[in-house]
Amino acid sequence: MQKKLKTLAQEWGADIVGFCKLETSPLPALPYALSIGVKLSDAVLKTIQNAPSFAYFQHYRTANTLLDSIAFRLGREIEKAGFSAFPIAASQSLGKHNPYNGVFPHKTAAVLSGLGFVGKSGLFLSTEYGSKLRLATVLTDMPVQAELPVIENGCGACELCKKACPAGAIFGELPSKTDGERNFDAEKCSKYMKEHFQDVGRGSVCGVCIKVCPKNKLS
Ligand code: SF4
Ligand code: SF4
Repeated sequence: MQKKLKTLAQEWGADIVGFCKLETSPLPALPYALSIGVKLSDAVLKTIQNAPSFAYFQHYRTANTLLDSIAFRLGREIEKAGFSAFPIAASQSLGKHNPYNGVFPHKTAAVLSGLGFVGKSGLFLSTEYGSKLRLATVLTDMPVQAELPVIENGCGACELCKKACPAGAIFGELPSKTDGERNFDAEKCSKYMKEHFQDVGRGSVCGVCIKVCPKNKLS
């Protein structure tokens, strides 16, 4: 079943696919996770110049839609096999009372699946594509196993994202293994975007820390 789900996710457009058992699930009855990622276009990311572009905002939304569709369809396959599935959208919001957190940090499942590490930027960096990715997750009670070991942070001495962040929201410190929240100020990032990038997606995107990351090897 795990192999079948991976093949389907790839056929439907996922560029990375992984599986893991979570250390802590937001839904304790569903302790396993499928992590999927869709790569963003190098050409579109290059249009970010110290600020987001309209092309980036539209591309970001389309990647989220594709991921949500793949997660939705994977959930249906899991249910058909007799298990429960809870797809978590690529872009999450818990409303105005908890605006800087989602149901679940996708990067946690991606790291535990051995697909990459959390960088100093607080973003997930995949082994293959760096941080030029969007992620989604499906929680399930279907037992799955990680195919790859968890890897260490690979940022080294680099601090390019810290230097480039216009909000000063990146501290330049190594994160805890599966969670970038301690080395990144989500509130500062969000407030800066809302204040300065209101004309592009009402301040919901920036992308500068993705654009400058050398792990992304933009071609
Ligand atoms: S998205 Fe922009 S403001 Fe937010 S951390 Fe990255 S560079 Fe800084
Ligand atoms: S820009 Fe450098 S420090 Fe920041 S996430 Fe990328 S590799 Fe790590």
